[in-house]
Amino acid sequence: MTRQIWKLMVGAALLAGAWTPAMAADKAPDIRVTLLGTGTPTPRPDIYSMSTLVEAGDQKLVFDLGRGSTIRLFEKKIPLGAITAHFITHLHSDHIVGLPDMWLTGWIGTPWGSRKTPMVVFGPKGTVAMTDNLTKAFAEDIRIRTEDEHFPAAGVAFAATDITAGPVYEKDGGKVSAIEVNHGEHIRPAYGYVVEYAGRKVVLSGDTKYDARIAAAAKGADLLVHEVSVIEPELIKARPEYRAIEDHHTSPEEAGRIFATASPRLAVYSHIVFAGVKPIQDVPVQALTERTLSTYKGPFVIGRDLMSFTIGDKVEAFGADGAALKPISATP
Ligand SMILES: [Zn+2]
Ligand SMILES: [Zn+2]
Repeated sequence: MTRQIWKLMVGAALLAGAWTPAMAADKAPDIRVTLLGTGTPTPRPDIYSMSTLVEAGDQKLVFDLGRGSTIRLFEKKIPLGAITAHFITHLHSDHIVGLPDMWLTGWIGTPWGSRKTPMVVFGPKGTVAMTDNLTKAFAEDIRIRTEDEHFPAAGVAFAATDITAGPVYEKDGGKVSAIEVNHGEHIRPAYGYVVEYAGRKVVLSGDTKYDARIAAAAKGADLLVHEVSVIEPELIKARPEYRAIEDHHTSPEEAGRIFATASPRLAVYSHIVFAGVKPIQDVPVQALTERTLSTYKGPFVIGRDLMSFTIGDKVEAFGADGAALKPISATP
């Protein structure tokens, strides 16, 4: 193809304003993990709340639906209606406020929506009730779009399941299991997830305090995505209410111990809780790095929205801009 014809084709596509799904890479890795949101309830424009995409073969699995997960999928040119199944770790709002958006916006008949089959959702006790109640809450939108735009009824239905720990999903060689984790006595059950595909294993901690069950589940994992809380000790002294936040999460030293025991090929922080005596403007990378390295030699990555990880013979990390990233290690 001449350069000129190619230019004309690109020009035509731009003129048409075409929104087409991303092209497949030349040689697909076994699993690709993309951080759609790495934050907490804080409504920051640069760090959305918790959501992780795991692509395994033809399956696109989304874990947690925090604020902005639809926007991140749009940025990745992945249609909302193309998500195979959704998994919720627990019912804190920063993990589910994006669910109604994913559900209803994904139903709209455009290249970025177009769900024609029920939205598959797995989550802890209360998930089915939540989807039933959402259906009632949005009854008018559903009625209007059905009568007016004639979108298929199946696309706005839920196929929701309240899960228990153990295997929850199996399709086309992909397996997802839930492990119970300890996010505090009022937040039971809370789950982490283990995804297995093509002999590879990805583990997602969910929100949790230090819990040895995660280290056990992640033994020999290719990728362990773990939450962390880095709150300055001085702030907890000055403002004891921060103790309650800290008590629901894992400190960098504790996460390092989990990583050291599990020894995954790569560890990644996502759902990064941070606060200090003075308001902290961004993830405190230095404190998080030093405190983690006090109990774990690496390799690990401090996650940011839209970072991705490919898992195959190699495990590689990429920034939001697609550039390769070098994980943090005690020995450079
Ligand atoms: Zn959370
Ligand atoms: Zn939580």
